[in-house]
Amino acid sequence: MGRWVVDTVLPPTDDTDLFTQLTFLDEPCCASCGYPFDHEVTGLAGISAFDLLCAACLARRPAYATARSALQYDDASRSLVLAFKHGGHTDRLHTFAAQMHRAGRVALAHADLIVPVPLHRTRLVKRRYNQSALLARALSRRCGVPMDAHMLLRPRKTPSQGGLSAAGRRRNVQGAFEVARPEAVAGRRLVLVDDVMTTGATLEACTRTLKRAGAARVDALCLARVVKPLPAP
Ligand SMILES: [Zn+2]
Repeated sequence: MGRWVVDTVLPPTDDTDLFTQLTFLDEPCCASCGYPFDHEVTGLAGISAFDLLCAACLARRPAYATARSALQYDDASRSLVLAFKHGGHTDRLHTFAAQMHRAGRVALAHADLIVPVPLHRTRLVKRRYNQSALLARALSRRCGVPMDAHMLLRPRKTPSQGGLSAAGRRRNVQGAFEVARPEAVAGRRLVLVDDVMTTGATLEACTRTLKRAGAARVDALCLARVVKPLPAP
């Protein structure tokens, strides 16, 4: 699994222990969803590391072109992500954005617009801000690709995805999203930003909505992702 050292941006000093325990994700990984591969999985005869798919993507290819995540969602990253998501700790935004820029550098290099996954307005009122929009804005400032936090809308309130199966999560967010101005996404290459990728159901639903509106390409970029161990062979 790719482990990266935090390079240019130093974390706040009281988090140094936590940061040393983070797992930073990068190549080699599933060409589609970004599932991290052990180094020894790559280098098979005749197969480029860039073409390898994980079992889940082989069985069901996601609608997005690629999904990449900066961190593995584990004990170390969970407290950082939750403090950001629910505790209003936005002081680490520049560090998060730097790591997302690293993880999403290929998609961002060719992107026209960054679009965050929206919250329904009642959840937005409760939480005061959309953490994905904050990440998208910080990322936009860093990489220079414009962002629009009002392009994707979430008019339908859906129950929390917590506790649902993968199929349940897909059903739960189906039809939950709308594009505000289809003419502004038609023919464009979009980077969809979210905080945590669990099964990918939300990214899938957003991608389908954006592509129905005419987006030429959608790549997903998340701060962290759940990495379930592969089943034993
Ligand atoms: Zn995959």
